[in-house]
Amino acid sequence: MKEDVLLILKSNPETYVSGQYLSSVLNVSRTAIWKYINSLKENGYIIESASKKGYMLISSPDLLTSDEINTFLDTKYVGRRIIHFDTIESTNNTAKELAAKGAKDGTVIISEEQTSGKGRLGRQWLAPKYKGVWMSIILKPEINPVDVPKITHISAAAVVSGLMELNIKAHIKWPNDIIINNKKICGILTEMSGEINRISYVIVGIGINANLELDDIPKGISEKASSLLIETGRKIDRKEVAAKVLNNFEILYQNFIETGMINHSIKICRENSLLIGKNIKIINGQEEKIARAVDINNKGELIVELGDGHSEPIISGEVSIRGLNGYI
Ligand code: ADP
Repeated sequence: MKEDVLLILKSNPETYVSGQYLSSVLNVSRTAIWKYINSLKENGYIIESASKKGYMLISSPDLLTSDEINTFLDTKYVGRRIIHFDTIESTNNTAKELAAKGAKDGTVIISEEQTSGKGRLGRQWLAPKYKGVWMSIILKPEINPVDVPKITHISAAAVVSGLMELNIKAHIKWPNDIIINNKKICGILTEMSGEINRISYVIVGIGINANLELDDIPKGISEKASSLLIETGRKIDRKEVAAKVLNNFEILYQNFIETGMINHSIKICRENSLLIGKNIKIINGQEEKIARAVDINNKGELIVELGDGHSEPIISGEVSIRGLNGYI
């Protein structure tokens, strides 16, 4: 009900909406409306009240709550349930717990900060408060577990497409990093639980460095990490980014579920690839080799050409890719 009050206020910008109107449309007492308004105010909404005129929404908080993201969301099920936290250790870990307890396909866990965010191979992920979009999508696909890495490509394509809608051009460092000006502004971590031939759930963690400033990025990673704010000079509307990524994700993911193929996502990954055409270092544990990235095939494998002229596919998840002289 509180959401409905908010929705009506939002759809009447710069206008007073009378308590009488709200109470008759929503079929509750004016006292109830007054209580909802107070509760919205407690959640950071600035609402002006004037006697005889009613209520006017002045501003909304910069929070990644369901109420805020909803305004920009046009999905059927992805993000239709958002569980929002002020602080959390890791959105992926909470997503796993909730998925195991029965959270539905498409549920999204978002936190304003992560105190121990994770990257691949158990690495730390920096996720300071109110500065980024730290979210994890819970999925329950009936697919073969070997196809789960494809969801990383779908997610990368969704992030790049979402950013494109905000006129931000980013590249994908196959398979899971999103890069602007050779620095990482987003990482994707896909995890799954299941058996050899059956998936219980998949978690897609997406961490977007939206409004981090230079001071927020510690020396150790400042050579490879950056943010949308730093690279574009524009303060980013986090809820809009979150919604646009989820909108694109649902379209691409649904296409995969229905056709079993990820050609559309791969086309986006290819067109926005940072690696294709470059010489790269492929790191597999202690082993390193140098090759030229030439393509991404429709399975999501990176095709590389080795010194002797023959080419081979590289499977994501097994390797780290670096530039010849640094991060990329
Ligand atoms: P890669 O895919 O490049 O091997 P990961 O996906 O494992 O890297 O990401 C973890 C690494 O990213 C960390 O080791 C750290 O150097 C870097 N990192 C941590 N937090 C951030 C962040 N918020 N933005 C960009 N890079 C980060």
